[in-house]
Amino acid sequence: MSKQVRVRFAPSPTGPLHIGGVRTALFNYLFAKKNNGVFFLRIEDTDQNRFVPGAEEYIMEALEWLGIAPDETIGKNEKFGPYKQSERKHLYKQYADELINSGNAYYAFDTAEALDLQRKQHEEQGKTFIYNWHNREKLDTSLVISAAETSKRIAAGEDFVIRFKTPVDETLHLQDIIRGEVKFETNLLDDKVLFKSDGMPTYHLANIVDDHLMETSHVIRGEEWLPSMPLHVMLYRAFGWEAPEFAHLPLIMKPVGNGKLSKRDGDKLGFPVFPLNWKDPISGETSSGYREKGFFPEAVVNFLALLGWNDGTEKEMFSLEELEQAFDLSRVHKAGAKFDPEKNKWFNHQYLMKKDDADLAKSFAPIVAEKGITVSENVLTKIVSLIKERADFVSEFWDLSDFFFVTPISYDEKARKNWKEETPTLMQELISVLGEITDFTAANIETIVKDWMTKNEIGMGKVMQPFRLSLVGALKGPHLFDIVELIGKEETIKRIEKAITSL
Ligand code: GLU
Repeated sequence: MSKQVRVRFAPSPTGPLHIGGVRTALFNYLFAKKNNGVFFLRIEDTDQNRFVPGAEEYIMEALEWLGIAPDETIGKNEKFGPYKQSERKHLYKQYADELINSGNAYYAFDTAEALDLQRKQHEEQGKTFIYNWHNREKLDTSLVISAAETSKRIAAGEDFVIRFKTPVDETLHLQDIIRGEVKFETNLLDDKVLFKSDGMPTYHLANIVDDHLMETSHVIRGEEWLPSMPLHVMLYRAFGWEAPEFAHLPLIMKPVGNGKLSKRDGDKLGFPVFPLNWKDPISGETSSGYREKGFFPEAVVNFLALLGWNDGTEKEMFSLEELEQAFDLSRVHKAGAKFDPEKNKWFNHQYLMKKDDADLAKSFAPIVAEKGITVSENVLTKIVSLIKERADFVSEFWDLSDFFFVTPISYDEKARKNWKEETPTLMQELISVLGEITDFTAANIETIVKDWMTKNEIGMGKVMQPFRLSLVGALKGPHLFDIVELIGKEETIKRIEKAITSL
């Protein structure tokens, strides 16, 4: 690659960033890093009607959280700034004019009512109205009125749009890095609006002008933009600019059935489709985010990277640094990538297991404190080490470990059958055995208790199950003697006594 790699993520701030958008950002980021390039973020807010307050900040915060912040954006290395299209408004008009002057675009004055009428009339004949070469010379455009008349109407303040004059009878053979050759017939395309009389460009014009001015080398974006590719390539051609290379990423599909993953799928099946929590400023509706659900950013990055890409081996666990090395656009699949919420949890579990117990204990500490419990960092770290294997999230720690902190208030119904006639006597004897132990550490307690059982020919189950039931309230939890050591002699004996009276 001769040119410097410069890629962009160009979201429209119309709401929270959907997980598909996050993946697009990630693939751009990885491609930039892999090729010693630049990853920049441009906010495409030309459609003021769709502007949602807070969305821009949300996008930036999400990328920060995931560790894939852009190299250039609003307020950061503004080499080709501004990075927000509404602040570049003054730039676009001259480019629209340039296309008019070169005969690649034209003014259209049709009112909304006139276009509606066209649509209706076409429908009545079983046809679809497409604004293009078929009819552009029968409509109210500068193609059919004189230049003087056109200027007069514009000067008089009449509303207009500038449309692209799509070339006729051409087959475009375009190259997409992921899809290979893609063919388009220009006769099937409509003459898209590029500019409006309110002074704002549409997405298409602003996007092309900015990608050119910001020296974008590769456009990596979702498959939903593939239909726009012919227009974009023709715009580059009309301006006489070199077009960037294109790569259209596969859609992210629903976990079950067919179709694109939607916000509703997430709500229905109980998993987030957004990186961070979002409260809609208008409806007040909230959507949950990966961060608040307790996902680690590394886990989210890892599972998103594998939505439509792999390194050609069976390898699944990738750190961001490894992805930066391994990522390759030519290994991105064409077919849609199924979203698997269970797999996402699996990834979180893997990262949870890799984390330092002391760090996890720090995240767990506020939950414990909220219950009004004080516990030393050391003890909490030990508890975490005993239970984390069973958890996908730190938020599950409490349910997996509550018995370390509080005496059981009830006993699992099914487990009660392990409490037999002879159990109270055995438990009393156990209390005496435990009372004698001075070195109250798990291994030592285990040896002494097991020696006592062997000597007195008491079956394991007869003691161990009621013992666990007394301490935990159920037949669950980590190694029993680890629990005994951690809660201590006094509490252990108290719990057995309580079980004897309650069961
Ligand atoms: N603003 C477009 C979007 O919201 C950008 C599409 C593109 O990358 O060209 O996704």
